[in-house]
This record gives sequence, C-alpha cells and structure tokens, in this order.
Amino acid sequence: MLLRTRGIPLNFEADLVGRVTRNPDKLDELSFLLVDQEPVRTVPGPYLGMLTKQASVDDSYTQSVIYRVPTLDHLAEGDIVSVSQDGNINTLYRVNSPHNTLLATERCNSNCLMCSQPPKDKDDINRLFDVHQKLIPLIPKDCDELGISGGEPTLMGNHFFTLLEQLQEHLPQTEIHILTNGRTFAWNHVAERLARMNYSRVMLGIPVYSDYYQEHDHIVQAPNAFNQTILGLHNLARYNQRIEIRVVLHKLSIPRLVKLAKYIYKNLPFAEHVTFMGLEYVGYTPHNIDKLWIDPYDYMDELGEAVEFLAVRGMNVSIYNTQLCIMPEPLWKYARKSISDWKNSFLPECTRCARLEECGGLFTWNLKKPSQHIQPF
Ligand code: SF4
Repeated sequence: MLLRTRGIPLNFEADLVGRVTRNPDKLDELSFLLVDQEPVRTVPGPYLGMLTKQASVDDSYTQSVIYRVPTLDHLAEGDIVSVSQDGNINTLYRVNSPHNTLLATERCNSNCLMCSQPPKDKDDINRLFDVHQKLIPLIPKDCDELGISGGEPTLMGNHFFTLLEQLQEHLPQTEIHILTNGRTFAWNHVAERLARMNYSRVMLGIPVYSDYYQEHDHIVQAPNAFNQTILGLHNLARYNQRIEIRVVLHKLSIPRLVKLAKYIYKNLPFAEHVTFMGLEYVGYTPHNIDKLWIDPYDYMDELGEAVEFLAVRGMNVSIYNTQLCIMPEPLWKYARKSISDWKNSFLPECTRCARLEECGGLFTWNLKKPSQHIQPF
C-alpha cells in the first residue's frame, strides 16, 4: 500500500500538515485540495495548498501547489498528510484504517538482530515531534486505537510525555499502544511520571526474548538490556501501568521458549497480554537470516507448550503473524489477525483456501520467505 509520494513544489515555504479533500466546499485553513485531472485553477482560500496530478502549472499561479504527483488514488477524504517543501507527501493518518501509528523517532538504544525498522542515528526527534503536534489535533475523536512506535519512543525524553499529554487531551477515548523496549523505565522516576498522568488508555508493548539475560542481550545486541527491561517492567507494574509482553519467534528464542513462558508466569504475572509473534522478513532479518530462520511449522510443539502453559494459568495469550494452516488446530483460538492492513498479504494459493477469511495471512515482505508448509484448506 502506498503511503508516500512526491511531486514538484511551487510556492511551498514551510512543511505543512493537513487533511485532504476533493471537495472545494470543505476546504479550511487546515486542509489540502486534491485535484486529479481537472485543470488547476485558483480556488479561494484560506487553505494549505493544492496537490495535483497535473503535469504543469502556470508560472503566474500564486497559491501553494505540488504538481506532477504520480497518483492521489491512495488518499481518502479526510486522510491527514504532511507535505514538505521538497515535494514529499507522506500519509500520516488514514481515516478508513484501524492501524495508524505515530513514528516517534528512528533512534533506538537497542539494535535487535531481527529489527524490522533498523534504527538510524540521526536527530529526528524535534522534527517528528513538531509533525505530531500538528497531526494530533486533526485526528478524528472517534479514532479507536493509535500506535506509537520507533525506534525507541522514550528516547524522546520530555517530548514523550508532552506527546502523551496532547493525546490524552485531544483523543481521550482512543486506546494508545506504545511499542517500547522498556529499558528507560528502569529509572523509577520515568515510570512514576507516566503513572502520574493517570492515563488508563495507554498500553506498553515490551519485548522479552529469553528468560536468560545473556540470550536476551545477544538478541537485542545491547549489554544489560535484560536487567533494565525487567526492572522497567517491575517499576511499571508497581504503578499499575498496563503491560503487554511481546516475544518474537525465531531460531534463537525457540530453544528456551517454554522456560520463558514459565519465567513470565512467575516473574511478570501482572502482564495484561502475552503475545508470541512470527518473524518479519524485513529490516535486519534478511541479513541475519541464517541465525534466525526456523520454519514456523517446526516450532509448533514449543509454541503450543508455551502458550498452553500461560493460558491454563489464566494469562491472556495471543499468537500473531502466524498462518492457520501451519498451526495445530488447538492453537487456532489464540491466533489473531494481527498484521496491519497496509502490510498484509496472502500467497496465490490462499485464494482457494476455505479458511481465507479467518486467516491473518502474511506480512507482505514475508511472501519472499514463507513457511514451506503453507497449504490451502
Ligand atoms: S493457505 Fe493461506 S489463507 Fe489458508 S490458512 Fe494457509 S496462509 Fe491462511
């Protein structure tokens, strides 16, 4: 699914964020007009600018316009975009999708072997924070759920809390799901500050990859990460913060998976949700594939034992990113359609599968590295 495009900018003097509309009557000072094929003409303002597929614009045109945009078809009425002075048009929020995420920063203090979005050492925090400050007030109040991801969002420092305060104010009914490695919460005052917000809609998704510190630290490529994450989890639990434990399934995590489940039950019983997640074939994973790859079909015994161990003891367990046809039927009740719509695909043979509607399918990038045991029902 297309989320970014670009054209040629004219009269754009700042990076802007606004809603898109194809209806000139709905324009306001926070919207862009989309013009597909019609000739560009001056439309009375105020509005942010025009985005058009037209190949050229008259030099005398004085309004802000991005022209020669290859397509605008991916944008629905009310979607929110950022438009930069160099002509880039990025989709920030899609009104028809339940899977919208704010990218907090591409920086991270871990460097996981299977990271799907490898960190970048560039100072993007203020720029992205500025974009989100403009975006959040435009998001519809009936937005059910919003993700915050990175990089590591807590590296935003004070901006992390300002962002949450803004969300709490503008979107009080929206569930906020934050993907964090949890290490920053090893500092009690950070967990305490979050707790002081009294923001019950926030859930923190925190990965734990092994019950053994050296294995976890190796997978995340950061010394002392395990101790920090576990301390962070306990600090958060002390303040009744909502926690999801996330375990990625691969050749390094599978051998101790059942031990990890037992560790979670014994040491992290406060987790509201534990999810076991299939590997994404993107980011670092293709480069580390020899270290990481195990056909999911071949770890179903370990997965089944880990899931059942937690489930029979009353923990809320899910399996993400795993296709029904490679799972034993008793595990189907834990399988969720977890893959966001813009990165969800199926193999050609899935079109003749009787379980297509129930199956969560694959990440689009996993089409290059599917289980060898995928078979239509
Ligand atoms: S064949 Fe495709 S649709 Fe059917 S269960 Fe397997 S992955 Fe899912």
